[in-house]
Amino acid sequence: MQRLLDGKVVVVTGAGRGIGRAIAEEMAGQGADVVAVDYDLPTSAVETIEAMGRKCLAFQADVASLARASGITDEIIAQLGGLHVLVSNAGISQPKPLVELSEAEWDRTFDVNLKGCFNWCKAAVPHMLRQGWGRIVIVSSVSAKHGGVLGTVSKACYAATKAGLLGLTRGLAKELAPTITVNAICPGIIETAMTAPITGSPEANRILEGIPLGRFGRPDDVAHVAVFLVSPWADYLTGEIIDVNGGLYID
Ligand code: NAD
Repeated sequence: MQRLLDGKVVVVTGAGRGIGRAIAEEMAGQGADVVAVDYDLPTSAVETIEAMGRKCLAFQADVASLARASGITDEIIAQLGGLHVLVSNAGISQPKPLVELSEAEWDRTFDVNLKGCFNWCKAAVPHMLRQGWGRIVIVSSVSAKHGGVLGTVSKACYAATKAGLLGLTRGLAKELAPTITVNAICPGIIETAMTAPITGSPEANRILEGIPLGRFGRPDDVAHVAVFLVSPWADYLTGEIIDVNGGLYID
């Protein structure tokens, strides 16, 4: 039986856990070979994907390094023969309010969340253009649009990085058309290690009241949309920002 991503090589940053891992596994389930990149070597994700019968390469890397992104990309081409899909997912939270946030913390959040995406696009796009086909999915956040749901947690710096990704998505979508489509996903509150302090807090029930679909999101909820965006079902879709937030924020 033909699957949506047969013959495709997919790179997912931040694939070791959470949303990135779900995306990597869901794409493998649709027939893709996967390259899992993470700050911590994503060994367990690799075992799961190989058990599904797909090839999976794992790399320990900081997405903030362009040199590392370029080096890994060359290795991918050498070992797997192509690079068709990039999912730029790796990210870190930054809850500190402005008055407490240091310049180094501001810079690091931008280096990972925004420049990390630039780095991987910069490394992958020349190969996609040479191939004559490519798909990029960028994981932004609902915070890019509303600045943060929780009064107690600042989202200013994080939201700025994630809003930057929306500009990058729209700009690259125009620049790289028609060969490569570029779309973004804005997850709401998804149950992962990143949001455990929120979903496990005494405030959780109050927050749930503000989510029309009545539950926090699961990593699979985001992964399904990511698969759609790189599948033939989305061939006429680029520069689009898709909310996956259960109705938490509707614009
Ligand atoms: P997570 O913390 O559970 O997982 C993030 C993964 O990225 C980890 O495996 C981590 O090691 C890796 N990573 C972090 N910094 C890295 C770096 N510098 N280089 C390489 N890898 C790095 O987070 P998650 O909830 O799965 O979030 C994934 C993405 O989705 C992030 O970009 C996050 O901002 C975004 N997001 C998450 C939510 C949510 O509710 N969980 C909501 C909106 C957006």
